[in-house]
Amino acid sequence: MKMRAAVLREFEKPATIEEVELEPPREKEVLIRTAFTGFCQSDLHFMRGRVNFGLPGVLGHEAAGIVEDVGPGVTSVKKGDHVVATWMVPCGTCPECVSGRGYICRSSIELFSSGLLPDKTSRLKDWKGRQLGHQTFVSGFAEYMVVPEKGAVKVKEELPLDQACFMGCCLPTGFGAVYNGAGVKPGDSVAIWGMGGVGLNAVRGAKLRSAYPISKEDPVPIVKELTGGGAKYTFEVIGDPGAVLQALWTIALGGKHIQIGICPPMDMVGVPLTFLTGHCNSIVGTQYGMIQTHQDIPAFVDMALRGELLLDRLVTRKFKVEEINDVAEAMKQRQIVGRWVCEW
Ligand SMILES: [Zn+2]
Ligand SMILES: [Zn+2]
Repeated sequence: MKMRAAVLREFEKPATIEEVELEPPREKEVLIRTAFTGFCQSDLHFMRGRVNFGLPGVLGHEAAGIVEDVGPGVTSVKKGDHVVATWMVPCGTCPECVSGRGYICRSSIELFSSGLLPDKTSRLKDWKGRQLGHQTFVSGFAEYMVVPEKGAVKVKEELPLDQACFMGCCLPTGFGAVYNGAGVKPGDSVAIWGMGGVGLNAVRGAKLRSAYPISKEDPVPIVKELTGGGAKYTFEVIGDPGAVLQALWTIALGGKHIQIGICPPMDMVGVPLTFLTGHCNSIVGTQYGMIQTHQDIPAFVDMALRGELLLDRLVTRKFKVEEINDVAEAMKQRQIVGRWVCEW
C-alpha cells in the first residue's frame, strides 16, 4: 500500500515527507494503523547522525495504533486490537535473551544499524522502488507500520492511544531505570538531568518509590545542597557528555550514576578513578529500562489506568508529521518539556 511517512535520507539534513510503499505483513508480522507517535531525543540523535538506525529510513520508534491486518501464524493480536510497538524485539535465543535480559538482545542490537526487520529484510520502499529502513523495527512516523508480532504488545482500549505510545519508549526507559537500573528505595535522594518524556517518567518513578529529595536542577552546588552532600542516585537522560559529568560530580559517597541517554560511540567523559574506589561510587548503564516488554508494558498500562503515571500531563503538544523538522529543531534548542506527539 502507499502511505505518507517521514524519511531520513542524510544525517544533519531535514527529514522529507514522502509517499512510500509498505508491503503486507509476512509470517509472524502485524500491520498497524498508526494513531500517535512520540518524538524522542533518540530520534534527534539519529537525525543528527550521532547514532545510526539505518539510512535511508523511516523515522520513529515510539508509536501506538490499531491492528489492521496480521500475517500468517500470528496468534497474540488480531484486527482491531490496540497495540504499542516496541523498539527492542527480543529474539528469545541469544545468550542475553536466554538469561532473561531481552532488553539487550544482541540480535536486535546487531540489526539496528541496518534498519531491517528480524528476518533481515525490509517492507518499505520509496517511490523509485529503493529499499528504506525501519527505525529500530518500528518506523513509527508513518501512517502504517509493519512490525514483528513480538514487537506488538496489546494494550487495553481504555488507555487513550496518545498516552499508549509512551509505553513504547519514554515510560519504560525512564521508569525502568529508576526501578530496575537503580533500585531506588524510600528516602533515597535522586537527581535527574533532562526533563523530556524519559526524564519526567524517571521523576514519576522516583516519586512513586518515595525518593526524597528529587532534584530537577542542573547546577552541581544546588543539588549538593538540596541533598546534603550529594544525591544517592543521579540519572542522565539526554546523552550529553557535559550533563553526564555534572551528574557524576553530584553523587554522594557510595552513590550510583545511571546512564539512560544514548551516547554516540566517540563521546567520552573523564572521571577520576578515586571516584570508583575511594568514593565507592558506581556507574551503571541501562537500556529500555531493563524491562521485559510483554510482562511489564501491560503492568504499566494498569498503573496508567489507575492514574499513577499522570501520562495525560506528559502530552504537551500534538503536531502533524509535516512539522517534524520544526519539532526536531525545538528539541535541539531544548525547548521541549514533556512529550510532543504526532497525531495521524
Ligand atoms: Zn526513545
Ligand atoms: Zn536475543
